Amino acid sequence: MSVTIFSHPMCNTHIMDSDHPECPARLHQINDQLIASGLEYVLTFAQGTKIDLEHLYHAHSKLYIDELILQDTQLQTRSEFETNPHIWLDDDTIMMKASLKAAMYAAGCAKDAVDEVFTSNNTRAFCAIRPPGHHATHASAMGFCLINNVAVAATYAMRQYDVQRVAIIDFDVHHGNGTADIFKNDDNVMFCSSFQHPFYPFGGLENQPSHFKPVPLAPGADSASWRAAVTPWFNAISDFKPDLILVSAGFDAHQEDDLGHVRLVEADYAWITDQLVKLANQHCHGRIVSVLEGGYALSALGRSVVAHVKALVSHPYITV
Ligand SMILES: [Zn+2]
Repeated sequence: MSVTIFSHPMCNTHIMDSDHPECPARLHQINDQLIASGLEYVLTFAQGTKIDLEHLYHAHSKLYIDELILQDTQLQTRSEFETNPHIWLDDDTIMMKASLKAAMYAAGCAKDAVDEVFTSNNTRAFCAIRPPGHHATHASAMGFCLINNVAVAATYAMRQYDVQRVAIIDFDVHHGNGTADIFKNDDNVMFCSSFQHPFYPFGGLENQPSHFKPVPLAPGADSASWRAAVTPWFNAISDFKPDLILVSAGFDAHQEDDLGHVRLVEADYAWITDQLVKLANQHCHGRIVSVLEGGYALSALGRSVVAHVKALVSHPYITV
């Protein structure tokens, strides 16, 4: 068994600003550190495909996707003499000529990763993709996110394969409000999100349905307090008996990341991944698809992804 790493060069054509933290260097760093990690013999590198629009409509409203396409069409007509023509989709999210295509390749990687874990011997996949997705709601872009990649993966898996229940685990330092919005009325999707609170996007606790397991973290929360706070997830996931585990893998809760104030380290990402791998082996034939969300301290991001992927390789699922 190996872990398949999905990515696509188009993901790095989306450049919001020359000094923006959500930048192409993130994927370069991940790629470099995965290659340097010595894990190559258990990794399969694959290029994802551009997603078909039909797969987006189960996570997002058609109106929203139509609006993105309209904006994209208008951007393509902007003058080639204009420096980086762009529009703002929200206070934090810029769309330029390459953005929609990049987002569609990112979502395509997530969809292809679902196919991979259901149709090949590789039951684990990690998507090194950008732009990230977990702030994109049913009907809007938000927080650097255009298309909610993990939600596209979940809805695709439930339609394409014999998947009744999906557990999504989101350990990004920011609450996955977009994912929560998309699945708030679907109790076949358990959503476990740990996040600094109060912090952007300033929600995640009020009026949460019972199939959501929010874990707010105080600024400065360390490894021990985070591990204690998320440990109840594992029994809840076990009781839920998911057919697929998805991970919104944001690494901005790392202590070196300036975008948050939580103090996790690489060993924490290895630890939670280990727990999820064991649950996946128990309940869903070892199947885990993990998609990159945040993580902006480049070296820490690369090291954290290596720890995460290394743990995905551990405890291979063995059919008897
Ligand atoms: Zn984040």
